[in-house]
Amino acid sequence: MIHKLCDECGKMESVDFMVAIDDNIYCIECDTRKENEMTEKKYNGWKNRATWNVALHFGNCESLYYEMMRKCRQLAGEKKRWTAELAVCFVRYHMGAVTPDGCHLGDVDWDEIAVAWNDDLNYFLETQADERKKK
Ligand SMILES: [Zn+2]
Repeated sequence: MIHKLCDECGKMESVDFMVAIDDNIYCIECDTRKENEMTEKKYNGWKNRATWNVALHFGNCESLYYEMMRKCRQLAGEKKRWTAELAVCFVRYHMGAVTPDGCHLGDVDWDEIAVAWNDDLNYFLETQADERKKK
């Protein structure tokens, strides 16, 4: 059995378990990581096309953005945060099973969406804190 060194991490591995790209050869772990990095770059840092697409529509479509921000304000008022479960229900309610570009909501990484939307929610929490200080 032929063994080679991974060009990325230097680990010795049987070539049967390695992947050759251009003039380099990588172990499975490094190949998987590289592929994930490339996919993320392709979708502006989002995990996959479906996740990126949901974020895109709620960020760019005026009515969806309005609904999302309204929900953020409501959650902030109730001292709640976005969770993956909450994001699924919310998006399904507004989109159905697929995005306008035909991405299946089943492929979406809801944790990633929840984290992103909690950033927007923080805006309302900060505004509320500012208003309380003023009073
Ligand atoms: Zn490696």
